Amino acid sequence: MTDTHKFSLAVHGGAGTILKANLTPELEAAYHAGLRAALDAGYKVLAAGGAALDAVTAAVCALEDEPLFNAGRGAVYTSDGVQEMDAAVMDGATRNAGAVGGIFGPRNPIRAARAVMENTDHVMLIGPNALNVARDAGLDFAEAEYFFTQARWDALQSTLKMRKDGVEDDDPARRHGTVGAVACDAQGNVAAATSTGGMTAKAPGRIGDTPIIGAGTFADNETCAVSGTGHGEVFIRYTAAAEIAARMRHAGQSLEEAATHVVMHDLANNDGSGGLIAVDALGNITMPFNCEGMYRGMVTQEGLFDTFIYR
Ligand code: ASP
Repeated sequence: MTDTHKFSLAVHGGAGTILKANLTPELEAAYHAGLRAALDAGYKVLAAGGAALDAVTAAVCALEDEPLFNAGRGAVYTSDGVQEMDAAVMDGATRNAGAVGGIFGPRNPIRAARAVMENTDHVMLIGPNALNVARDAGLDFAEAEYFFTQARWDALQSTLKMRKDGVEDDDPARRHGTVGAVACDAQGNVAAATSTGGMTAKAPGRIGDTPIIGAGTFADNETCAVSGTGHGEVFIRYTAAAEIAARMRHAGQSLEEAATHVVMHDLANNDGSGGLIAVDALGNITMPFNCEGMYRGMVTQEGLFDTFIYR
């Protein structure tokens, strides 16, 4: 906890059934390295006096480029065997926001969300015109081979088989993942960015909480910036991110109190497995989650880097 605002940054790479028994030491190390690369990318921006908005964009691009995480390269598959990506970014200084839903093509969906924010009058675009906006912004596109990972494909096959055999446990924690970043810059501006492939074997056309402002992504200098990961339908129904801001604004709760309540009560008691990262305009960070693990990390102005997987 600090009294003055210091810049800080947190990232996540998804929450869920992440058990030590299921991760080899090599894989564990790879996850830590992926989180660290994202922190480095965002920290570089903040340390140079850059904006929180640019820091979260840089951090999320690094996570999207890492195939271990369910966003960009490495996104999960719908029940039809295609990838449909959601992303959103929000600037807490202006409350400007941009989002895309169900897109495939841009290498970094978070940049497409930012193009919607910066180059259109709208907050969310889907369909061919979301891609046109990304193309007009000069963003890089990639083919299906770039986004393919064997692990995500295998996860789809096993979920479809369980469904066919009538033995799907439908444990949402088994099927989700997402990446995100929140930051407070040296000026006390906060921002949030979130990007995901959604949930394995989701219905085609399904949009989760990630691109919905106030559900999986939110930022407002008055309160906080939030990026969520988990069972998206529940985050949407409980307006998870907006609820944290509302508790801070109307009930005078601290960032930590508000975020903990939403994750451990509102979400946990309603089948909403998952977690989130949040920062306030003083640079305080909290990272609560209600499942076994959440890939997460943070860095403070002093350059103290930390990454975590389990409780
Ligand atoms: N919240 C994402 C979604 O429902 C998935 C996740 O974060 O794991 O699309």
